[in-house]
Amino acid sequence: MNRFALQCLRTIAVFAIVGIVCGAIWGLGNGLMAFLALLSLWLFAHLWQIGQLITWLERPKPSTIPTGLGIWQQIFSTLMLQAKSRKRRKQKITQALQRFYHASEVMPDGVMILNQEGRIEWMNSVAREHFLLQIDDLGGILANLVRQPEFHHFMTDDASQHEVKLHLPTRKGLPRTVIVKRTPFDKHLQLLVSQDITPMEKLNQTRSDFIANVSHELRTPLTVINGFVETMQDLPNLPADKREQFLALMKKDSDRMLTLLDDLLTLSRLENFDPTHKLQPINLSALVEQLSQEGMTLSGGKQTFDTVIEPNLWIQGVQLDLYNALSNLVFNAVRYNPEGGHIAIHLHSSDNAANARFSVTDNGPGIAAEHIPRLTERFYRVDAGRSRASGGTGLGLAITKHALAEHGSRLEVESTVGKGSEFSAEFSLISKPQAVSLSGNTSPELTTI
Ligand code: ADP
Repeated sequence: MNRFALQCLRTIAVFAIVGIVCGAIWGLGNGLMAFLALLSLWLFAHLWQIGQLITWLERPKPSTIPTGLGIWQQIFSTLMLQAKSRKRRKQKITQALQRFYHASEVMPDGVMILNQEGRIEWMNSVAREHFLLQIDDLGGILANLVRQPEFHHFMTDDASQHEVKLHLPTRKGLPRTVIVKRTPFDKHLQLLVSQDITPMEKLNQTRSDFIANVSHELRTPLTVINGFVETMQDLPNLPADKREQFLALMKKDSDRMLTLLDDLLTLSRLENFDPTHKLQPINLSALVEQLSQEGMTLSGGKQTFDTVIEPNLWIQGVQLDLYNALSNLVFNAVRYNPEGGHIAIHLHSSDNAANARFSVTDNGPGIAAEHIPRLTERFYRVDAGRSRASGGTGLGLAITKHALAEHGSRLEVESTVGKGSEFSAEFSLISKPQAVSLSGNTSPELTTI
C-alpha cells in the first residue's frame, strides 16, 4: 500500500475515533454526525486543492505554484521541481537551437531542408542568396521557384543524381557558379547544400591562362632558336658573317627567355610575400636619383628628362623589390615614349611630411581608359608588338603592383590617348635613421629589366 493510501486510512481512522468519542459522550447519532462532518470537511479541502492544481496546470509556471497542506504540499513541491527542470531543459533547447541558427547563418554554404513534396521547410540566408529566394518562399516548391531546366531535372526527374553544377546569377546579375549537393535524411526529407565555386573556377581559369601565356611567351623565342639550329645543322658551311648573325639572333632570344624567367620568379616571390619579411630603412631619394640616371642611360638621349627629387626622404621597405617596382615605371616611360618625347620624374613629400609621392610622367602615346584597370594583370599588354619589340615581358606592372603592396602603397595611373601618361605611388615616410648600414642601401642587381 502506498503512502497516500496509508495517510488516507490514518485520517479516516482519526475521524472514526473522534466520532466514537463524541458518540460515547453525546450519543451515537451525534458521534456519526461529527464523523461525517469531519469527512466532508476533509473531502472539501481536497477538492479545493484539486481545483487549485487544475488552475495551475492551465499555465504551469514554477513561480505560480500553489501552496498546499499535507499530501498536497508534497504534490505541489514535486510538480514545482518538475516544472523547474522542464524550464531549464527548454532554455537549453532554445539556446542550442539559437546556436544552430547562428552557426547556419555564418556558414559559407547554403543549407536547405526540403520535405517529401520538395517544399522548402527551412533555409539559411546563404541558400536564399544562391537561389535568389525571399523569406516568403518558405513552404514553396523549390523546383518551381528556381527556373533552370538543369535544376528542374535534378530535382524532379533524376533522384540518382546527387550533385549538380548550376550557373545562377547573383542579385546584381553577375555570373556565379554554384554546386548543389543533395542528401536524403529522416525518411522523407532532403538536405540541399549549395556552394559558391566562382572563386575556385576563376582561379582555375587564371591558372590555365597563365600556363597558356607562359607557353606562348617561351614558344616564340624557342621556335626562332630551333629554326636557326636546324639551319646551321643543314648548312655546315655557312659563311662566317651569316653564322655570327644567326648566333646573335639566337642570343637575343635566349636573353628574352631568361628575362621572362627572371620576371616570373620575381613575381612568384612577391605574390607569396611573407608579411614578417624584414623591412629596412631605405633612402627613397637616393633610389629615385639612381633610377633617373639609369632611365637617361636607357634613353640614350632620345628623350628629354626633368627630374625634381626632394632629398633625404626615407621609407621602410625592401630595397630590391622597391627598385623593381619603380624601375619598371621609369623604363616603361622610356620604352613607350617616342624619340623627342619628354619624361618627368618627381619625388616630393606632402605638406605634413608624412608621405612622399613618386611620379613618372611622359608625353607618349597614352593608354585608353578601358586598358588601365587591366594593366597590372600578368601578360596584359596594350600594344603587344611594341612591348615585345622593346623587350617587354608583359609582367612589369604586375611586379610593380605586388612590390608596391609590400610597401603599403598602390599604383595610380592617369593617362590620355595622344597626350601621355602618369604613373605614381605614395609612401609613408619615416625619419632619417641615425646610423644606416651601407649594405641596406647599395644598388640592387638589375634583375627584371
Ligand atoms: P611590358 O613588359 O609589356 O612593358 P608592363 O606590365 O610593364 O609590360 O606594361 C603593360 C603594358 O602597359 C605595356 O605593354 C604597355 O602597352 C602599357 N604601358 C606601360 N607603360 C606605358 C607608358 N608609359 N605609356 C604607354 N603605355 C604603357
